[in-house]
Amino acid sequence: MRMELQIRGVSKTYSNGVRALDDVSLTIAPGMYGLLGPNGAGKSTLMRILATLQDPDEGTVRLGDIDVLSEKERTREVLGYLPQDFGLYPGVTAESLLTHFAVLEGISHRTDRKETVEALLRRTNLWDVRSEKLGTYSGGMKQRFGVAVALLGDPRLLIVDEPTAGLDPVERVRFLNLLSELGERSVVLLSTHIVEDVSELCSHMAVIDRGRILLEEEPFRAIEQIRGRIWRRVVTTGELGRLEREHKVISTRLLAGRKIAHVFADARPGPAFEPVQPDLKDVYFSVMADENGRSVDLPAESQP
Ligand code: ADP
Repeated sequence: MRMELQIRGVSKTYSNGVRALDDVSLTIAPGMYGLLGPNGAGKSTLMRILATLQDPDEGTVRLGDIDVLSEKERTREVLGYLPQDFGLYPGVTAESLLTHFAVLEGISHRTDRKETVEALLRRTNLWDVRSEKLGTYSGGMKQRFGVAVALLGDPRLLIVDEPTAGLDPVERVRFLNLLSELGERSVVLLSTHIVEDVSELCSHMAVIDRGRILLEEEPFRAIEQIRGRIWRRVVTTGELGRLEREHKVISTRLLAGRKIAHVFADARPGPAFEPVQPDLKDVYFSVMADENGRSVDLPAESQP
């Protein structure tokens, strides 16, 4: 069955007055969908609402013919949720904990259960370490174990909240590959503050900040829309202030010890500027600069 997730007019204000979600509407089809936004944007709040762990103040959420907010049990039957931090029993092996969850999932026949557990451990690349205790697992192995647990119920909707934070590059690639396989069969919603997670993986995306959706677009189309309008030049710290007053600086980053500013402009802003082939980071930072009126200072990296 093809399921679409429809989020309409969802708002949530916490008791401390923080409006974490402000009239959020999104339509999410099968495949990999990226929800991109900085810390505090409202991503986890939205993920928890979709996972039936929290209620919004307003709005509706439908998954296929299921009303997610009122039919929580039905939703949970088709949902897999991998939270940002999930508790594990450090002294238990992956195989025995997964077997335990399989019992809870209602896979009561012993042979079925054994086969399911083995298939999931193989799929998440944990078969060789199945007899090791979870407390000895690396961050990436724990995340993959979380996916194995989430997949037990063969979910139609898999929600993954900030999964790559803290993973090393090899683990991250392995984890993203696993997710992209899942996206072939179900709706996979990935929340992240890492632009590369979305650009490498997601066919659709939305940008969220301060509880509001700022952009909903296919990544490659969003990049097309700013092509020819991103420029860069080397700046000294002293020049940056003036540049920011005169132009829309969307980001600055260090490259081999020099500071490079990216500027959004319809035409070349000056002779010192050269055109940039934009990427999804330029999309994200132009949207964020529009919202906040200031540029993002990026950490140093090896590629411009
Ligand atoms: P993200 O996942 O994008 O980092 P969150 O949904 O966790 O964003 O948080 C959105 C906003 O709501 C933040 O300002 C955060 O401080 C606030 N917030 C989150 N959870 C609570 C809570 N339980 N009580 C009060 N404020 C909260």
